[in-house]
Amino acid sequence: MSSYVVGFPRIGEQRELKFALESFWSGKSDFSEVKSVAKDLRSRHWKYQQDAGVDLISVNDFSLYDNMLDMIVTLGAIPARFRGLKGEELYFAMARGNKDAVAMEMTKWFNTNYHYIVPELTPNDEYSLDASKIIKEYKEAKELGINAKINIIGPLTFLANAKRVDRGDTFELLGKILPIYEELLGEIAKLDNEVLVQIDEPFFVRGTDAKDLSLLKPTYDKLCSVSENLKIVVATYFEHSSEATKVLVNTPIYGLALDFLYGKENMETVDLIASKGKKLFAGVVDGRNIWINNIESTVELLEQIATKISKDNIFVGSSCSLLHVPFALEYEEKLDRNIKSWFAYAKEKLIEIDVIEKLFRGEELNSAESAALEANKVANQTRKTADIIHDKAVQARVAGEIKLDRDEPFENRLKRQHESLNYPKLPTTTIGSFPQTPEVRKARRDFKKGEISKEAYESEMKRYIDDCIAFQEEADIDVLVHGEPERNDMVEYFGEQLKGYAFSQNGWVQSYGSRCVKPPVIYGDISRPKPMTVDWMVYSQSKTTRIMKGMLTGPVTILNWSFVRDDMERGDVSKQIALAIADEVSDLQDVGIKIIQVDEAAFKEGYPLRAEKIPAYEEWAVRDFKICVAPAKSETQIHTHMCYSEFNDIIRTIEAMDADVISIETARSGNELLKIFAKVGYKQEVGPGVYDIHSPRVPSKEEIVTQIEKLIEVLPIKQLWINPDCGLKTRKWEEVKPSLINMVEAVKEIRER
Ligand code: GLN
Ligand code: ZN
Repeated sequence: MSSYVVGFPRIGEQRELKFALESFWSGKSDFSEVKSVAKDLRSRHWKYQQDAGVDLISVNDFSLYDNMLDMIVTLGAIPARFRGLKGEELYFAMARGNKDAVAMEMTKWFNTNYHYIVPELTPNDEYSLDASKIIKEYKEAKELGINAKINIIGPLTFLANAKRVDRGDTFELLGKILPIYEELLGEIAKLDNEVLVQIDEPFFVRGTDAKDLSLLKPTYDKLCSVSENLKIVVATYFEHSSEATKVLVNTPIYGLALDFLYGKENMETVDLIASKGKKLFAGVVDGRNIWINNIESTVELLEQIATKISKDNIFVGSSCSLLHVPFALEYEEKLDRNIKSWFAYAKEKLIEIDVIEKLFRGEELNSAESAALEANKVANQTRKTADIIHDKAVQARVAGEIKLDRDEPFENRLKRQHESLNYPKLPTTTIGSFPQTPEVRKARRDFKKGEISKEAYESEMKRYIDDCIAFQEEADIDVLVHGEPERNDMVEYFGEQLKGYAFSQNGWVQSYGSRCVKPPVIYGDISRPKPMTVDWMVYSQSKTTRIMKGMLTGPVTILNWSFVRDDMERGDVSKQIALAIADEVSDLQDVGIKIIQVDEAAFKEGYPLRAEKIPAYEEWAVRDFKICVAPAKSETQIHTHMCYSEFNDIIRTIEAMDADVISIETARSGNELLKIFAKVGYKQEVGPGVYDIHSPRVPSKEEIVTQIEKLIEVLPIKQLWINPDCGLKTRKWEEVKPSLINMVEAVKEIRER
């Protein structure tokens, strides 16, 4: 019994859970249907793992919406506004809101694109255990003959990822939460003579400070003392957790599950784990990327680990939950055969784990396993040499001389830009996209399927652009956009046109709740065979005498929303993308586009989990943004947009990116978040969002006037642009039109004063 998987995807290979949930939410079916789909999926997923030879199979990795939300229910940490509700009504109200109560907040799970529900705690909460989900699912698995381990999110990670409504320290509530965890483990211990419980504590990969670390030992001493029946394994992932390991080995836990892919430093604690007699669950198959494992070198890695800890004490498994990769390759019918041979989705990773484990133990492979091993060797070999991956021209260009900076400092540039662009004080603009109407979506879909001609598609898009421009002129917006109707997604659009990118057919990964995304895949050297946005921009500019802003997505965002090749440093991949975007900037400028926006919506998402790794990331991230805008002449104005509000920790980095104008989200916080720009003496221009685009609400002119007044308190008028918080593609025209009209009216009122 020695292979394991940290967790398995749950949405279903055909996204069955998504469709069942959405049908229930829209009132088309009842909850029993959801329950039956969920039960089927659980048993099917357990079976897959069992058939693949996985020894320890997760229970409670399943969720109807989110595992953190499940933990909230288990602990009875229900925010006051939902009390009185029960069962699925309560559960989905917390997740999605209802007519009386807004949904709980959602945020990213560490540095993945998965979003969890943030627990809302107060010092007055009274917690109480509801272990029913876990017990039910465990019994279900047992009945099916599954060798189950139970997954739960650990108390310290739960608290670290929670927020206190009164803004206090969530760890102060440990004394209240821990007894519920003990009670829970007590219930679990009754299920069998021996139950393995995987307690996830990824919080400790952040390189936690001494105060937080000091909570570990008392917590795990307590949890381990609940029952002799329990074997507790503490799991961390996405980075190393050496500091925590050093503490945990001195508690009565059974073992540690560590990530050896994104936390190579974990190797340094293996000796210690061995000397303290703990089991090591070695995460050696990448749970969050889609590339095949190199089975031979992984076995070597395990052999190296086995020089420090005896083989009997090593379990072999995934680095993290397979939740972060798509389900199975068998549905990829259109993918290039070679490229497909380099991919391993969740089901394929099960086989890899099995083969690696057997080789490591010196067990004989059956014929299917031998074939898998052989295919793995071949694929790893072709990946090293394939022409479609390795492009000599790209490599030569990246290694050659690259323009890293604009010609002049921003003071001079802005002066020239004001002379040539001549925009008024408090210039108005938008972030790029306008509402994606059903007609636009349909036209794009039909064109992709080959159901309408290129001409028909283009004329549909042009009609949209015409309307979009006409509206903006009528509303009297200063700097116009074309509305991005031709883009399904700001990364996919560019990925589809770049060489080195592949697209899956069924590569869905859960993002939150029932929502899935299909990240494109960077498999090879990146280049731009031809201009990607120039024709659309030429058309758009020809339709107006006002300034038309060109729209591009920046390299860091492209990288952060893709599956990135693992045979090259991320920074090197980013540099290739930057050069491709630089060509586009240059082409746009040549056809007369005077303002170009390079969106870095996901710039912050790529930040490393550990502080000591941040400078290296910032270095290449800033470099590559600068590379892609370096061709812009001083007169050409470069904008960037970031979808956040919190800039305090990265303000110097933003400054170093050296954009002429940056637009950010601030509407929900008044002027608080802008203050940092004033505090550090930021001199470039800033467009703080004046209204929240995440809600359908139309802001009144007066509200926007008030918001602008607040902004003026912080930054001088000459430095400010006026725009919404983010792109408008998810909104409806009925909301967008009056909102933007009010925005412009508000600006005019202030200008008159
Ligand atoms: N230009 C993009 C848009 O307006 C930016 C989107 C984003 O920041 N997420 O949709
Ligand atoms: Zn945004």
